[in-house]
Amino acid sequence: MSMVRGWCPNLFAPMDTGDGVLLRVKPFAGRLTAAEARALAEIAPGAIELTNRANLQLRGATAASAPALAQAILAAGLADPEPGREARRNLNASPLLGDDPSLMPQTAAWRAALEDILAGAGALPGKFGLVLDGGGVLPLAGVEADITLRLAPDGTALLRLQDCPWQARGATPASVAALVEIFRASGARRMRGTLAARGAEALFAAAGLRPEPAPAQEAAPEALGFHPYPGLGRGAFGLMPEFGVLEAGGLRALAALAEGFGDGTLRLTPWRVVLLAGVTRPAALRAAAAGWVTDPADPRRRVVACPGSAGCASGLAETRADARRLLARGAVPQEGLLHLSGCAKGCAHPGPAAVVLVAAPGGYALLRQGRAGDPPQRTGLTLAQAAAELEST
Ligand code: SF4
Repeated sequence: MSMVRGWCPNLFAPMDTGDGVLLRVKPFAGRLTAAEARALAEIAPGAIELTNRANLQLRGATAASAPALAQAILAAGLADPEPGREARRNLNASPLLGDDPSLMPQTAAWRAALEDILAGAGALPGKFGLVLDGGGVLPLAGVEADITLRLAPDGTALLRLQDCPWQARGATPASVAALVEIFRASGARRMRGTLAARGAEALFAAAGLRPEPAPAQEAAPEALGFHPYPGLGRGAFGLMPEFGVLEAGGLRALAALAEGFGDGTLRLTPWRVVLLAGVTRPAALRAAAAGWVTDPADPRRRVVACPGSAGCASGLAETRADARRLLARGAVPQEGLLHLSGCAKGCAHPGPAAVVLVAAPGGYALLRQGRAGDPPQRTGLTLAQAAAELEST
């Protein structure tokens, strides 16, 4: 079994964190049946993290235990046995496909076509991924990907490339396959690299597409809480564990909720929110009482924290424990995210946040409206000083 460091892990190439390895589990179609969730709870050696690719990340394994863990995950039906195909299974599709009647009807056919394209592609970098947005009650707006397909009511598909100000209408599976092949041949790690090398016009033309200016990306929807399906007496209910992290008992509790209130299946999302599907509003309210983060106004929704020194050799502070202390003081921004990062790598939230606290040898560094690796505005803060800074704004 090979190890990767600082790159995208998967089941057959777990990531070395310095004091253990991380294994990425990619449930098929982003779904876990209650039985699969219980099996994973049995297998998981430590914390189970929800990722922004609608996957799960297992902590607590060692280089010695990882191969047996991977075999157990395979036996539970949660991975493709062919390592290359497993590494390429990076499609983030609308999580309520098959349940939400307001999704574009062509979504299922597109998902099958995109899965086939990835399965049949040559070796791709581990982070390369596609998004398929079929609309509906929870569109995948604002989800980062190398290639994004957004389906329109007239049956057409709109295609966007990572970090590209252009889009193209009328995309087909053949045009996506062409772009994947151009990307693969370019040797870039992400589509933005291919774009920089080839230029947007040439890329779209090679895929038989005509570019046009793309509008600004829409904001991500709020996935927490109840989302009724139009015209039906039921809907989906989104809930989140604190910091998007589950222990085995939490995963078992979610399985019981899915069986008790939903259709027995958990839907994973890129917002670190788990959806119970097919629930009625009264059932959703009862599920909300079980202690999960379900209210968009809950301050825990606005805090992201990596494990820090409690689970990563690079961590320079116990970030989640410190996040709880800040929450207890109410020292959380009213708008936007607070990101506590155990080091400047910023694994838990690669994007910008309203306030970022980065653990460093001399204390926390603080920056606003930026990423963990950006230059800080304050350095050497104790947690109390950081809290005071947060409370003063
Ligand atoms: S950001 Fe957190 S999880 Fe990532 S390497 Fe640093 S301490 Fe570890």
